[in-house]
Amino acid sequence: MRAIVREGPCGRKELASAIGVSFTTITKTVTELIELGALTESAAATPRGVGRPVVPLDVPAAQRLVVGAHLHPGSTSCGAFTLRGEQVAFRTTAAGGRTQRERIEEAARLVDDVVTEAGVAAVLGIGMTTPWAEVHHGQPPPLLSDVDHDELRNGLRERLPHPLRLEPNVRALAVEHHWWGAGGDDVLTVLVGRSVGVAQMRGGELVWDGPGAGGLVSHVIVPGSGFPCACGQVGCVKATCTDDALLQRAVAAGLLPPGALQRDLYPASDTEQLQGLRRDRAEELGRVIPLIMSLVAPGETTIRGRLGTPDEISTCVEAIRLRFRALVGREANVRHHGGERPDFWARASAALALDRYLASPLEHEGGRASRGSPVPVP
Ligand SMILES: [Zn+2]
Repeated sequence: MRAIVREGPCGRKELASAIGVSFTTITKTVTELIELGALTESAAATPRGVGRPVVPLDVPAAQRLVVGAHLHPGSTSCGAFTLRGEQVAFRTTAAGGRTQRERIEEAARLVDDVVTEAGVAAVLGIGMTTPWAEVHHGQPPPLLSDVDHDELRNGLRERLPHPLRLEPNVRALAVEHHWWGAGGDDVLTVLVGRSVGVAQMRGGELVWDGPGAGGLVSHVIVPGSGFPCACGQVGCVKATCTDDALLQRAVAAGLLPPGALQRDLYPASDTEQLQGLRRDRAEELGRVIPLIMSLVAPGETTIRGRLGTPDEISTCVEAIRLRFRALVGREANVRHHGGERPDFWARASAALALDRYLASPLEHEGGRASRGSPVPVP
């Protein structure tokens, strides 16, 4: 199933040789999965030629869906997607909740609505991401809308019967890139946003797994940075090249008013001073990301996050290349991937549910059967 999701529809024989198991084993497993409805046989695209026609195996379209939801400080979005990442339903709503409880209720209602629209019985699981991955124990203070992961998990489990997976946003991006983004087999994802996070997919698995898994590089020191961090060190990533750090600097310099938001760093009508801040940040990232790359030694590196104008993004990627070459003596396989679709985060979050399902489809299908008929929605 993992091969079919990543490579597309595939015949039994091709599948057996692609994953190195016997044709007999494939046939037996495929029969079981077809009976469960987890695989389908499509009659399409039979190549003309000698021998028996090839009947490609595929994942079902509408009968198996994954749902993803994302809590942003300003909005909540949720979508349902096929196992190939095609959107079936999508809704987004401005964040109205002023307390953690209200925010969780709001999210649960939205997820309920999307699950109902997509069909309760078809939904395999729910993936959820939040943009904050760590406790903010210094400045800037937590936003009113920041929600504790455990509270969120418990709040959603009270309402929704589906398996739920809650992860920091960078891990969802890594998983989405692997299953739906034609990512290679060993990819380091670096997300630059309110914090800088990293996640690595190697051989189809997230490298750091389990609760509180690694991937936060907040207090890694950016060479040459003199910005003091609340942790007591000087030059931490968190104090130097996150959006929060830039925002703090922009407000301190009077470039943005107090209370300005992350998005104000990237205004439609740009200023030279903001450009200057972002260009410096691109250089800072160019000094620190190669250190992380040389530590975990991925096959390729994907930089995510808004960063700035296309020119500023190129500056950043070029700085990473130069520094990596200087340090390691090899060319860096590094690229920036944008993500300008409205359902971007909902889709990446849904990939978390897909990833969990594909880890053990038979067990999952068994769980579906024992949950029985669709649970009524409150
Ligand atoms: Zn620090």
